[in-house]
Amino acid sequence: MKYKSELQHFYFLTIEERRKFLKKAFGKQKLNLCTQRFKINGYYGENFIILDFYKKNNPTIIISAHYDGFGAYDNAGGVLTLLWLIRWAKLTKGNKNYDLSFLSVFFDGEESGLLGAKHFFQTPLLRNISIYSHISVDGFGIGTHIGGFANMNEVKLKKGNKEKDFFIQTDDDIFQKKKIPSLCIFTLPKEELLQLISKKTFPNTWDIIHTDKDTPDKIEEGFIPYLALYLYKNMSKLDFQKKDIVMVGG
Ligand SMILES: [Zn+2]
Repeated sequence: MKYKSELQHFYFLTIEERRKFLKKAFGKQKLNLCTQRFKINGYYGENFIILDFYKKNNPTIIISAHYDGFGAYDNAGGVLTLLWLIRWAKLTKGNKNYDLSFLSVFFDGEESGLLGAKHFFQTPLLRNISIYSHISVDGFGIGTHIGGFANMNEVKLKKGNKEKDFFIQTDDDIFQKKKIPSLCIFTLPKEELLQLISKKTFPNTWDIIHTDKDTPDKIEEGFIPYLALYLYKNMSKLDFQKKDIVMVGG
């Protein structure tokens, strides 16, 4: 039998199969899951929230990935990164070096208008939680360096010699509107990330987003566990306050 990687497997699943896949993965790890079901504008969706790493009365980071994107980079890679981050968190639970409070959230309906993120704020779950910040893991697995937008709506990127109004809405938008410091993070090859930061050039890698070229063969899947570990170790130290593109690491 040909080995099929986790990312390849996830990539080919329908949205309904993805919901089953995720629930099964959470069950296997005996995670404490909260499911938020919603129906907005005819779209039926389910958000999955992992409660195991939430500590009452602590400022809490929300780290999310949307699972409804039908690309490998956007966002099967992000989903797998978040699953790996949860694995690392489970392994180090109780270890004082990793004493942070966070909720990991798998958002549905992002591509249909950030529906999952919108619904997230309408539920009683958040009433007693003080949210410290939000991280959206979106576009992962190409390149080995992590960058982030602290305020995507204010960044203009150059494409060729044209200036492109960079306006892609992602889940972090909803958090920004609620005045919650929020980063949308992604991976890129080092050169592309450096040029994005210094020259504000639109990375070539992003040409594949929302096209049928966003396929699993382009993803460096073996690197994803390391990216997730890096993120887990550093997520409380990220710079959420900039109004620009930031280098997270890699
Ligand atoms: Zn996305």
